[in-house]
Amino acid sequence: MPVCQTCGHTWSLGETLKRSFSIWPAMKCPNCERDQFITAKSRKRSAIVSGLSIALVMLFNIFFGPTAYTFVLFGLVLLVVMITYLRMIKLSNTEEHMF
Ligand SMILES: [Zn+2]
Repeated sequence: MPVCQTCGHTWSLGETLKRSFSIWPAMKCPNCERDQFITAKSRKRSAIVSGLSIALVMLFNIFFGPTAYTFVLFGLVLLVVMITYLRMIKLSNTEEHMF
């Protein structure tokens, strides 16, 4: 789980979920209210996991067609990706660029 780099507060799953849906790159720590940013390494990892999961669902859809199983698989993959993403987030005090 993400840990604030200013005060050391470990964010809960609910706090992380709520703050990760913000459109701004900065996420305020629920404890000290300082801006925290997701590290570039975390964003790269989440992009890889998201890409692989989309490819998995597309491959399943190609081989088995649009069945109810595809929607169930999509829901499961979405749930796993969200939980994995929230657990992989690392924070920093400054915004890091991807490249
Ligand atoms: Zn904090």
